[in-house]
Amino acid sequence: MSICDICGNSIEGQDIHSLTEEQVVRATSDGFVPSTLPMQGFAELFGLSLSKADHWRGTVSKYKGTGAKWGVCMHCRSEIMSFLDSHVGGNSETD
Ligand SMILES: [Zn+2]
Repeated sequence: MSICDICGNSIEGQDIHSLTEEQVVRATSDGFVPSTLPMQGFAELFGLSLSKADHWRGTVSKYKGTGAKWGVCMHCRSEIMSFLDSHVGGNSETD
């Protein structure tokens, strides 16, 4: 069993989808923030005033430059892919 790199939910074997680091970084730099993040509850628990967007960008920056693939659940994949489609035009060639 795997864990979604975005929302932290567990994923059953064949339901895992991969995203390239480039897709994640591109969407994020265009303003994408996942609707579900695993650490949000912890941040609130400890009274941290970390916004969802701040937390997400911190996560992405940790992966940035590593070329790592993101293993995500179907929900997160469709969320980020539809964002890319509507904001960047899918297979954008600009940077
Ligand atoms: Zn997910």
